[in-house]
Amino acid sequence: MNKQELKNKILEAKKATDTVILAHTYQEPDIIDIADVTGDSFFLSKKAAELKAKRVVMCGVRFMAESVKILSPETETILPVAAATCPMAEQIAPERVRKFKEENPDTEVVAYINTTAALKAECDVCVTSSSAIKIVKKLDADEILFIPDQHLGSFVQKSVPEKKLIFWDGYCPVHAQLTKEDVLKCKAEHPDAVFAVHPESPKEVVELADMVGATSEIISYAKAQKGKVIIGTERGVVDYLAINEENGDRFIQLAPEKLCCEDMKKITLEDVYKAIIGEGGEKIELDEDLRKKALKSINRMLELG
Ligand code: SF4
Repeated sequence: MNKQELKNKILEAKKATDTVILAHTYQEPDIIDIADVTGDSFFLSKKAAELKAKRVVMCGVRFMAESVKILSPETETILPVAAATCPMAEQIAPERVRKFKEENPDTEVVAYINTTAALKAECDVCVTSSSAIKIVKKLDADEILFIPDQHLGSFVQKSVPEKKLIFWDGYCPVHAQLTKEDVLKCKAEHPDAVFAVHPESPKEVVELADMVGATSEIISYAKAQKGKVIIGTERGVVDYLAINEENGDRFIQLAPEKLCCEDMKKITLEDVYKAIIGEGGEKIELDEDLRKKALKSINRMLELG
């Protein structure tokens, strides 16, 4: 079966089984092509809830499928490849946070949305990369434990100097590899380009950017520019931008050898097809108490953000 035939089979099976395919923008273009909804992780889980989807295949990593399930417990949610996990989401054990809270009852714990459901359940509030500054500013506590991403945390700290943020050792292994030299080299090759970067990148990289933002914000910014844009995030974003753009080569991938999330690339068209017809993938199940606690952190994010 060639690729187009397989895509046609996916579309037929999707219709026959009343399945909605969600795909994160870091997915390969073939997966984006057959998806019903594409975007950032939290946008996708909100969309699944809005659509009241009966069945969802989440093309992304495990925490994203968990977020769909947290918001839509009645929705059958399938992760096409069980091994597609976000290393950062699992870097901090929930027990460590529980112990910290017992020892520091006045410190609020903020969890980036890129965390497991079990970790969200231990925190006071979740944030996305686009809502983090706004939410941290609104919290009552003067001292905040910000997990897991120390780089996003230090980016937030710069805009909220009135609070003391505590970081642990978490980071995104993809964005954290970027160096100042990578940026200077790319800028020298494209002196007329502006530079947009994700705040999961190290401070010295972020300092060189014309724009810092979440994936969806980088996409909007890049589309709005007339000329070249250096994209400092996972390489799927450049593919995504180029899909509908005549002049797609104006989007320059920064450090392509580094900015590839292997977990995000684990899902193939075959995996999606098997997940839809019930012959592959993992059905996400969450303990109901844990789900409710994680939902509380997400709902607080929605109230404050
Ligand atoms: S790019 Fe980083 S944060 Fe995103 S899924 Fe991959 S490891 Fe996790």
